[in-house]
Amino acid sequence: MAKKKVKVIKINPDECNGCRACEAFCAAFHADPKYSVVNPARARIRVIHDPIKNIFLPVLAGPHTEAECLVRDKYTLEGKEYDECAFCRATACPSREVFKDPDSGLPLKCDACETEPPLEEPLCVQVCLVDALTYEEREEETEEAEKLEDLEIGLESLVNKYGLDKVMDAMARIAASKKG
Ligand code: SF4
Ligand code: SF4
Repeated sequence: MAKKKVKVIKINPDECNGCRACEAFCAAFHADPKYSVVNPARARIRVIHDPIKNIFLPVLAGPHTEAECLVRDKYTLEGKEYDECAFCRATACPSREVFKDPDSGLPLKCDACETEPPLEEPLCVQVCLVDALTYEEREEETEEAEKLEDLEIGLESLVNKYGLDKVMDAMARIAASKKG
């Protein structure tokens, strides 16, 4: 039996003050080159903030979805009514704009800030000064499962949207322009 590392970012909305440092640092960390630009629309964490309803809800980008749900959810917790789909982590959902790259439309998925050498803790956790985000790691036994890399997920999403022929044509054009 193989072992897998389970990474958990614990979210405590009661502690969040809506400062959005997590969004800014996540976006900067994933810029190319790293830290060259800060565009929170590219963050893999989004903070739903409604000061009138006293809502501060950090949400991490999760798996990619190709189609919106047939039924939407709407939570009311301790008297606070959250927006439809507020807790949903799906990336690139056609029914909303979060967790999509603003230029390409590609899904933006939290990768736990994987880098070499690894960070001690994900960046959003490090910059959250009020412990609304905290981090835990543990090991679990698992069957080996094939895992699609982010690049493959992105390509699959483009193929689903535009069709294989168009994506292949575009890639051939990009390859030709890079060689030229
Ligand atoms: S850094 Fe922490 S307090 Fe600031 S918005 Fe993010 S989760 Fe909330
Ligand atoms: S763990 Fe890293 S990639 Fe994921 S939301 Fe936090 S800063 Fe972004």
